[in-house]
Amino acid sequence: AALSTPIRVDNQRLSVTSSIGIAIYPDHGRAPEALIRSADLAMYRAKENGKNRFEFFSALLAQRSERRSAVKSALRIALQREALRLYFQPRVRIGDGRIVGAEALLRWTDPRLGVVSPNEFIVIAEESGLIHELGLYVFRKACRQLAEWQRSGVPLGVLSVNFSAHQLLVATFIDEVDHVIDESGVDPRFIEVEITETSMLFDLGVTKNVIADLKHRGMRIAIDDFGTGFSSLSHLQQLDVDTLKIDQSFIRDMLVDSGDAAITTAVISLARGLRLSTTAEGVENEQQLQALRAAGCDYYQGFLFSPAIVVEDVEELLRLQGPSDTPQEPC
Ligand code: C2E
Ligand code: CA
Ligand code: CA
Repeated sequence: AALSTPIRVDNQRLSVTSSIGIAIYPDHGRAPEALIRSADLAMYRAKENGKNRFEFFSALLAQRSERRSAVKSALRIALQREALRLYFQPRVRIGDGRIVGAEALLRWTDPRLGVVSPNEFIVIAEESGLIHELGLYVFRKACRQLAEWQRSGVPLGVLSVNFSAHQLLVATFIDEVDHVIDESGVDPRFIEVEITETSMLFDLGVTKNVIADLKHRGMRIAIDDFGTGFSSLSHLQQLDVDTLKIDQSFIRDMLVDSGDAAITTAVISLARGLRLSTTAEGVENEQQLQALRAAGCDYYQGFLFSPAIVVEDVEELLRLQGPSDTPQEPC
């Protein structure tokens, strides 16, 4: 309460907020250092939970922090050893059921930790600064694979790659993108960069510039997990994007929750109005697909068609579907 009282400086009222971590002797540490370490962990938890609050230390917190350090150091080693693999989830055109592209998704099985989900290790990579190196690794692998497909006539279409907003903030980012494109010999018109809606809002100025740079190189831009952030609709017009990916939470419940169905339909018509295409994520059954078709959604991904699979399986699926009557265009 004392800290939250505004302070007058010249003619301005300045407010301070505080995040407090609490550790109790002797349960949370006997030595002063241990007690302070516990309090520190609890303070970081308070910050994560929205700041301006307090949190108590708990055994669960200690476990989480241990797991994080274990994942962090294993990830560093995995990157050095190139032990992370890219899988590809096909993207299908709803109109004719054909594969028109794929999304590259990271898979990692650590010898000690077992399978670690990208949902877990991407956040840790972002917090520890490893994301830049990791992101470049993914981009390099994806471009090499796509270039190989392009050279050998495998008609995948557009390959989507996930970029973390943290990557965009690095000053050398675009130079590195150029380097990877040159080195791989890939046609950048067939690369789509996915950036999540929430992370686009970190630093709108930077995001806008980076998007413009990527577009200038011919790449396509998708807003990932659309509907989960709070981007104002005018941002959509300012950011030169091509595709909205409707978050899987809306698709999951669209048949049972009229709110989710309404959001899905609204996003599709919004995209239409702005001449953007739409991809529905996480489509798991035929009824969802039917509803999306009726709403005019362009593409979908999901377990209904295929999870993320290895290179050879992608090639097999493309072989099975046979040649297309229409020439391949980035779509
Ligand atoms: P995302 O970009 O939204 O990717 C879609 C996630 O949904 C993937 O999880 C995919 O396997 C999963 N999925 C696909 N179809 C279905 C379905 O029908 N039902 C359900 N329940 N799930 C489905 P995954 O591979 O575990 O990735 C999780 C997240 O980790 C991704 O979410 C993405 O944000 C991040 N990620 C994965 N690879 C990369 C990467 O290379 N770079 C970055 N920056 N992030 C990545
Ligand atoms: Ca994605
Ligand atoms: Ca997504």
